[in-house]
Amino acid sequence: MEIADGVFTYLGRLGDKIRPGAGSSSVTVVKGDYLVMIDTGVVSGGAFDDLVSRMKADGLDPRDVRLVVFTHAHWDHINAASKVISRSGAGTAAALKEIPYIEDHKKNFNAFIRDFAEFAGEIFPLPLPVARLLIRYAWGRQPGLTVSQSLDDGDTLNFGREIRAAALPGHTDGHMGCFIPDAGVLASGDLVDFENSEGMDLNNPRSSYESAVGSIKRAISLNPDILIPGHGEPVVGRQRVREMLEGGLAGGLEYPALIKGVLGKTPLRLKEILRAVFPGTPFSTEAMRMMLVLIVILYMEKRGEVRRVVKKGRPAWVLGEKQE
Ligand SMILES: [Zn+2]
Repeated sequence: MEIADGVFTYLGRLGDKIRPGAGSSSVTVVKGDYLVMIDTGVVSGGAFDDLVSRMKADGLDPRDVRLVVFTHAHWDHINAASKVISRSGAGTAAALKEIPYIEDHKKNFNAFIRDFAEFAGEIFPLPLPVARLLIRYAWGRQPGLTVSQSLDDGDTLNFGREIRAAALPGHTDGHMGCFIPDAGVLASGDLVDFENSEGMDLNNPRSSYESAVGSIKRAISLNPDILIPGHGEPVVGRQRVREMLEGGLAGGLEYPALIKGVLGKTPLRLKEILRAVFPGTPFSTEAMRMMLVLIVILYMEKRGEVRRVVKKGRPAWVLGEKQE
């Protein structure tokens, strides 16, 4: 779909039956002297073939892609890159902090699960080795990828028009958005996700609550007319984009107060906090929201607002000494 002049975007369709846009990222293609692709989505489940046929229907040839830009290293955003590259010989670009994860599948995979091993028993309703196997299966085998170009905040790609790199850390530390000034489009990667999470997309051990707050403010300041999130439908209209981003930010800013509101002297485990803060969370989004709650709790822990204890061998939290 051509969402703005020469800017095409394709919703990820894999996993739609579970949650809209859940399994594969959206793909954005910008047409200048050649094509630049922002994220690639995945190969599995026919997702890549489907992308190719949708591009062709829009008169775009995947062989004309000269550069693939990654918003971050996650599997659902980079998986089809080797397919795109083998067809087109395209180069690749990403923020410096994402490159080691993109180039090293094992490091990328481990960062998703092993770094939170102590919480995995809480987050996944399965024993850790089983959860690990499932995730490994879902992530598939990642063919070796090399990144040919690193992008800093403010760097521009010029190809008869411009794409400006905008550092938007939070979802991961090197997470980056792509701003297309002549179209007022911001491809925001996983900065926000209005369909699957509560606005903020903090779903892995590399996520930071503090950074996400700053990055949503930054995105608002770019004044985009169109926002293309990494998952789910694009948001069109400057006013609407601002409302959605401000809503996501306001929601996010409430998390610490909500968590404090349910904590006291009785230690609560992650699942208990989640159920009190977000009652009625469906099973399909429970693990993701628990991760979000955990990221916020770790931020609060660092500030002394909550304190970690052990309850029946599992991590649990009570109110900390330091309160604002
Ligand atoms: Zn991601």
